[in-house]
Amino acid sequence: MTATIEVEATDVKASGTATVTMAETSTKEQLRAMFDRQKRAFRSAPMPSREERIQNLQRLKTVLLDNQDAIIDAISEDFAGRSRDETLLGELMPIAQDINYTCKKLKKWMKPSKRHVGQHLQPAKAVVNYQPLGVVGIMVPWNYPVQLAVLPMVGALAAGNRVMVKMSEFTPKTAELFAKLMEDHFSEELISVVTGEVDVATEFSKLPFDHLLFTGSTQVGRIVMRAAAENLTPVTLELGGKSPAIISDDVDLTEAVERICFGKSFNAGQTCVAPDYILCPRSKQDAFIETYRKVFNTMYPKLNNNADYTSIVNERMHQRLQSLVTEAKEAGAGVHVIGESDINDGSRRMPLHIITDASDDLRVMQEEIFGPVMPVIPYDNLNEALDYVNDRPRPLALYLFSHEQDCQRRVLEQTHSGGVCVNETLLHVAVDDMPFGGVGPSGMGHYHGHEGFLTFSKAKGTLSKGKFNAAKFMYPPYGGALGKMIFKMFVR
Ligand code: NAD
Repeated sequence: MTATIEVEATDVKASGTATVTMAETSTKEQLRAMFDRQKRAFRSAPMPSREERIQNLQRLKTVLLDNQDAIIDAISEDFAGRSRDETLLGELMPIAQDINYTCKKLKKWMKPSKRHVGQHLQPAKAVVNYQPLGVVGIMVPWNYPVQLAVLPMVGALAAGNRVMVKMSEFTPKTAELFAKLMEDHFSEELISVVTGEVDVATEFSKLPFDHLLFTGSTQVGRIVMRAAAENLTPVTLELGGKSPAIISDDVDLTEAVERICFGKSFNAGQTCVAPDYILCPRSKQDAFIETYRKVFNTMYPKLNNNADYTSIVNERMHQRLQSLVTEAKEAGAGVHVIGESDINDGSRRMPLHIITDASDDLRVMQEEIFGPVMPVIPYDNLNEALDYVNDRPRPLALYLFSHEQDCQRRVLEQTHSGGVCVNETLLHVAVDDMPFGGVGPSGMGHYHGHEGFLTFSKAKGTLSKGKFNAAKFMYPPYGGALGKMIFKMFVR
């Protein structure tokens, strides 16, 4: 059974069937014991067959889909109101699709890849074998607590690894349910789920994993990478940032706003790839706000008790978002409230606040917003918009609304971001056959689909020779006629 470590402050208690007596040992020792059990299990079965991997993935899908109502309820409880449809669209659908796609492609991905051997090394064969790494650590944020635990697991399990998963302390109900489901259906040597506060996360990040995938803020990403560096553990960092949406002059505003509104309102903007700010042609700024109001009110005619509109995850985040708005207002920026403003249903639902004329020093212009607040920045020509993006840290996503090929080409060639949607928001993340990952401060490395399989595999180049060894003509003593002929043929 899967071991679940749950730690409250410095007090340690256990659930599940971990053999260590949790009350008597420190968090560090419990985590290390769990890691060692997985490592030993890996050594005794270092190359699981394709059938075993597919069986694990199918079981994972079945367990999650069979328990979808419980998952929907747990996430909603953690958020004090998470839309049921958003949990289906943003957690369970990508998981089911990714597992289906991975199972279909796994045979091809696992196949050793034959490589070219140059004449100077003949006769020999070269192949790249995709070998499981061992024990993979996965650290999960709160905003899509199931999807962001499971999609990395899919890549890691498909590549034949064992996984230890640290859930977010901000979604305790979901973490508890997820740990229980994994504990009930998988051996702890294959999947271990760890719950608890930041002190547990800190110890978790210090384990000598064979690979560590962290999803979370850029700030914590730095701390985690530092901890991993002590073990030279390779990391994939899935971080955040301020993702721009550029509206070009040629585009129909209603078309663009509908797609931006969906992407910004989904999970109430608490999405790593949510459009953070809008670059809008100056002459269209007022029309943009009015169009947004119409579109938003059609999607969400009311906010009180609207089960389609997700609440802010906790009071701290709610206050942070309110303070971004207050600071902007006090500094003289325009604040346009879109949607019902008087929320009295006991939730933390928050209408969208469009911010205009904000100066660059405001927090709303500096920090990743991660909620229903959205600055609009006017521009006069495309170069100005491109400079605005390029003067800032490279974002996780960039959205362009334009049907003009030249504009599309310029934006794609002249900006860097983790991924791009042209005339869409968010949905590039859902393409199973594309890598997902940031660039610079928005992350490093990739997963999803084939790139996930590669991230969690050692691509081991193997050169094999038979009995005849032509390389011995290169052995010392140097200076012979054959050696000279070899240099003549190949050093050119
Ligand atoms: P976070 O960085 O606060 O927490 C993420 C994980 O790190 C949690 O499991 C937490 O327990 C752990 N953690 C916290 N402090 C730690 C420390 N000092 N040492 C070690 N571990 C620690 O992030 P969050 O608030 O849960 O999530 C929001 C952030 O995540 C946003 O910046 C968002 O953009 C980003 N995000 C990125 C992606 C992506 O795929 N790129 C997806 C979702 C969220």
